[in-house]
Amino acid sequence: MKCNVTDCDRVAHTRGLCKRCYTSAHVWIRKGRTTWAVLEQEGIAFPRARFHRRGRAPLTKALQLIEEMRKVKAKNAARMVFMTKNKEDV
Ligand SMILES: [Zn+2]
Repeated sequence: MKCNVTDCDRVAHTRGLCKRCYTSAHVWIRKGRTTWAVLEQEGIAFPRARFHRRGRAPLTKALQLIEEMRKVKAKNAARMVFMTKNKEDV
């Protein structure tokens, strides 16, 4: 992924910015000349959480998917038991 800054061809590192642009942004923010909220609004920087979610390791993603599938299966299994019980009552 390329840095979000139009004139910059470096590789994005954090929040969609390369290390150099991120450092520049940091300096401006520290000086009180801008904020992350403004940079996010302008589409220059990505919100931290979103960027992290996007950058999550493939293995973590795969494991989380398995976890979710297990939860759904468990839910469905519980529902089946419930339905069978209801049938028995009738
Ligand atoms: Zn850059």
